[in-house]
Amino acid sequence: MIRSASYVLQISEDSLGGVIHYVSATGTYDLILYDDVPGGAGFVRAVSERLPEIMDHVKDSIQHCTCDADTSCYTCLRSYRNQYLHDQLKRHYVMDLFV
Ligand SMILES: [Zn+2]
Repeated sequence: MIRSASYVLQISEDSLGGVIHYVSATGTYDLILYDDVPGGAGFVRAVSERLPEIMDHVKDSIQHCTCDADTSCYTCLRSYRNQYLHDQLKRHYVMDLFV
């Protein structure tokens, strides 16, 4: 999502950060985005204003990537920042969210 947001907003991927937080009370996950620049820059607000367009970009990039759906690559899900999770990042997990 950060990659798609940076593409749609035409900002550096390093300008946004995010964490996934498990909410044990509900068994759900929250995605927490933050501006990753000193003092903030309003990028998270811009994400909220263009969320449908960003989610369309996420869906397109995940569905049209050529890597095996049971894995991921640097075109779809992998980045330097999430390299400790690469073995767990499977493209089909994200595709299932859009069914
Ligand atoms: Zn891929």
